[in-house]
This record gives sequence, C-alpha cells and structure tokens, in this order.
Amino acid sequence: MRTLVVAPHPDDEVIGCGGSIVKWTQAGVEVHVLLVTQVWEPKWSEAELAKRFAEAHDAAECMGLHPDGQLWTARFPTTQLNITPAWLLAESLSDRVADIQPDTLIIPALGDVNRDHEEVHKACLVASRPHPGCPVKRVWAYETTCTAAFATSMPGVFRPDVYEVLAPVHANAKLEAMKCYKSEQRDWPHPRSVKALAHFCIERGARVGEPFAECFQIIREIRP
Ligand SMILES: [Zn+2]
Repeated sequence: MRTLVVAPHPDDEVIGCGGSIVKWTQAGVEVHVLLVTQVWEPKWSEAELAKRFAEAHDAAECMGLHPDGQLWTARFPTTQLNITPAWLLAESLSDRVADIQPDTLIIPALGDVNRDHEEVHKACLVASRPHPGCPVKRVWAYETTCTAAFATSMPGVFRPDVYEVLAPVHANAKLEAMKCYKSEQRDWPHPRSVKALAHFCIERGARVGEPFAECFQIIREIRP
C-alpha cells in the first residue's frame, strides 16, 4: 500500500493528518508527502526558504518518514495558486502521481478560506481522475483545523465521515512534528499552536468515543 499526502503548504500535512501518517507508517504503509508551495523571493529570502524546508524535513522524520525518498516538493509560489494556471498545477500533481503510483491520495478539503487549499483540492481531483491505468483507488480529504473553521459560509464545508483513531504515541508524534515547524506555529490560543492541535485531536476522538482521532471526508473509493 502506498499513500500520497498532498500539502498545499509545509505544515498542512501535520495539521491535517500528522497522527494518521505516523499510524499508517507504523502499520507498514509507504507514505509520501508532497509540499506543493514554498516561500519566494523577494518577499522571503533564500535563507528563509532553506529554513522552511529544513523544518519540513525534520517534521517528516518525526512522523517516521525518510525525507530523501518520501518528501517531495512542487515549488509553486505560496499564496499565489489562484493566479497560477490551473493546468500547470494539475499537470505537476499528475506527474507526481505517475512517479509515486499511490493507491491512496489524501488531499486538502475544499471548504477552506485559504485559496491555495482550494486550488490544490481541484488539481488533485484532476490528477486522480479514475481513468484506466490510474493507480489511485481511494481519495480522502483532510481538514485543516486552523482555517476550515472560518469557512462555514462557503460551499463544500468539511463533513467528516471517516475517523482515524490515534494511539497516544501517534498523537504525540503529530505534536512533536508540529514543534519542528517553528516558523508556522503560534502561541496558544492560536489555532495553529501545538496546544490547539492537541485539543483538536482530543475533540475529534471524543466524537467517536476515543481519546484521540483525526477525521477525513471520503471523496471516492473504488473497491475491487
Ligand atoms: Zn495551508
């Protein structure tokens, strides 16, 4: 089994499904993470770009991935996907799907105020079209807990139908991975704080009678 998690920005993979990545990896699933965007000059410096990638590298290791083979970058400019040609983004994601051959694709949910997330969601749907020969048999959307809460007036609000129960070791590894993202995390009570992520895991778990969970929305599953 091989899973590709698509993260519009470095840290979305941890916020949305970091605990599940740890759980799946420990269960023998080969998990890959694709970081779609990165900071760009002159708004950010070359040193800042290197620092952000180093944080993503450390976070991947925290989740049990081997960054040299399982962490991918598409290098699109962050916050600019809405002015990036849609075909270019879809083609890039399609190429990565062809390279990695995942049977499962984990993508950002649509109901999100962040435009990059929306564009990546749409491009992932193109890259996973169930044509003959497409390796992707399952597409799930993850929630970006930090931004989805602002999107309740938008179409496509996240409605979870899969709960991935996390053991304490999975939830702790998620929080440790978020601590690697020093540039992205904020102080409590910001939703992108480590403490807030811990609370989200606990609340999602309590919805289904478990101590910790992350949740997903099924976009498509093709069962043999
Ligand atoms: Zn993001």
